[in-house]
Amino acid sequence: MKQLSLGYRLLLNIALWLQRQCSDGASFSTLNYHRVLPVPVEGNALSEHEFVAQLAVLQRYFQVLSVSQALHLAQQQRLPANAVVITVDDGYVDCYDTIFKWLQHYKLTATFFITTVGLDDGYLWENLFAFCTDACADRNIQLQFDTLRFSLDAAASGNRAAQLQKLKTWLKYQPLQQRQRALTQLQQQTCPGQNPPWCFVNGAQLAEMTQAGMTIGAHTIHHPILSQEGDATAFTEIADSQRRLQQEIGQPVLFFAYPNGKSTVDYGENHVTMLKKLGFVAAFATDWGLTQPQQQCPFQLKRFTPWDSHVGRFALRLVANSLVEHRIFHWLRPLVRRTNTHHLGHDEPSIPAEVQHKRI
Ligand SMILES: [Zn+2]
Repeated sequence: MKQLSLGYRLLLNIALWLQRQCSDGASFSTLNYHRVLPVPVEGNALSEHEFVAQLAVLQRYFQVLSVSQALHLAQQQRLPANAVVITVDDGYVDCYDTIFKWLQHYKLTATFFITTVGLDDGYLWENLFAFCTDACADRNIQLQFDTLRFSLDAAASGNRAAQLQKLKTWLKYQPLQQRQRALTQLQQQTCPGQNPPWCFVNGAQLAEMTQAGMTIGAHTIHHPILSQEGDATAFTEIADSQRRLQQEIGQPVLFFAYPNGKSTVDYGENHVTMLKKLGFVAAFATDWGLTQPQQQCPFQLKRFTPWDSHVGRFALRLVANSLVEHRIFHWLRPLVRRTNTHHLGHDEPSIPAEVQHKRI
């Protein structure tokens, strides 16, 4: 692993010194990864090279803790200033093949939030969507879902990417039954009888990861937007995914991450109540910020992942994520936490106009 340049080492050491001066011993940064691929094709995927560089910096300059350790030390206000928790959402196979492998190499730990339908099907709804739309890339397709009409042009005729994104966002915010019905229709029109290849972790891999000190958390069965479902369905999605994971790893599942995760839009207080009832200890949103279990609801903890591809800037922004909570540095917040649209992925808040009025 190449070292940081002298300039970045100097800046980072100054930032870490400032962080120690400002630390309250009760807050930490929670990184939120999704996929690590040899050649990232998705907005929220990192290349393996980028990821390994980040782990090397995390190991050298930060203190990576498990969620349990971090929450315990936060309660006692004994957290090191540079404490970081690593989380990985969804449960794709790169969690095991790449992320787990490199975590072990650097002797680091992480929490993996698993969408359990992938353990049986080997893929999630967005993989089926990509599989179907790839299968019809060379032809124009008209899709009619109830009263809504989408037209997908052949890849050659431009504008297809924008149409695909619009359709995908619409599907994401449909209640599960409607989403499944629309996907079945899409599949019948594009690749009948075919399914995407397996791209998920399996139960044995999760058990192995647990034995090696990783934490497994729940992320529902089907990755619905919980606020779009009735309470009975939402409860089943949470409870059954927890039960299933407990069977796979032989240990209690105490942590949860909300699918898509934007507070008041993608989930509400009713889901917090469900988590408490099911014995969860804490839950993570995708709202950006420092994780402060004493100040935030422990069932709506914030996360923040610097999206800089340069590892020096990644490390500086990670330190800045805690510094900007200090009143002297408040003015830096918009700069540190500004969104990079290139990295908006499926677990990032992107609210389509038609559901904005449904905020709860
Ligand atoms: Zn997710």
